[in-house]
Amino acid sequence: MKSIMIKRLPYLFFLGVLFLFSMSPERVMAAEKPLEIVATQALFADLVKQVGQDKVDVRAIASPKFNIHFIQPRPSDVRDVTQADLYVNAGLDLEAWSDPLLEAVGRPQLFRRGERNLDLSSGIRLLKVPDHPVTRAEGDIHLFGNPHFQMNPENARIMVRVISEKLKEIDPVNASYYEENAKVFLGRLDRKIAEWKSLCAHCVGKEIISYHDDIVYFADFLGLKADQELEPKPGIPPTPKHFQFLEDYVKEHQVKAIVLPTYFSRSTAEKLAKRIGAKVATICQNVGEAPGTDDFFSFFDYNFKQISEALQ
Ligand SMILES: [Zn+2]
Repeated sequence: MKSIMIKRLPYLFFLGVLFLFSMSPERVMAAEKPLEIVATQALFADLVKQVGQDKVDVRAIASPKFNIHFIQPRPSDVRDVTQADLYVNAGLDLEAWSDPLLEAVGRPQLFRRGERNLDLSSGIRLLKVPDHPVTRAEGDIHLFGNPHFQMNPENARIMVRVISEKLKEIDPVNASYYEENAKVFLGRLDRKIAEWKSLCAHCVGKEIISYHDDIVYFADFLGLKADQELEPKPGIPPTPKHFQFLEDYVKEHQVKAIVLPTYFSRSTAEKLAKRIGAKVATICQNVGEAPGTDDFFSFFDYNFKQISEALQ
């Protein structure tokens, strides 16, 4: 009996080591720990979640209740980005606070064009790219073209593919999982785009005015005309002189609606709308900005319902 036990010792030892290795907490955590991802804004965070699902922990820096151009990151944002596996942002100059935040974090991998910085403007067909040099000194904040590209749901096709490729690159073990989730999202997006186009078919060719120049991609998707804003320049609040210009403009144009997100004052929009018998509609810029806009699809459901009703 004793000799049999001695003969089995190496085998038992091997099994024991195997068991301990398989139960090692570090190993279990390494295999199951979700990727830590920080996105600049809620819509991007939602797209990352749609692709990464339970393999990612994602949070957004900017509250959707505020203008995305002018966010003040907090110390907790610096801490979260410092620990992030990936930083997802709009690139361009939509989030002008992003570069100073990354400087404070100090990880070159996360800087623009760094391997852990995912710039979602990559591959997007930009609108309103200036054909002459513009500077911030003149008040402009859309220096590289209009950065509000997320407002066209067609652009989510590109963003979701870019997100899926990046997640596959940094977490190749789960590549097929990300691939499948992206495929499911894109299939649903195809069906929703057909539904939204149908809901807003009567909007084609109609003219709207927006508060800020953040609607151009949305208008492009629907075939709307949107050439004027209440702001005389992006980021410059409405002035009496510009209001007078718009009053003259609307006399010669059939403007049917004035649109703005929730964080701009409605009073100027309502004043102009009253003069011309137009409607004022809330068009959100981000997921979570208004009740019932908790994810990408409900966000666009809300916006297309708003514009459809305003232009009836
Ligand atoms: Zn803007």
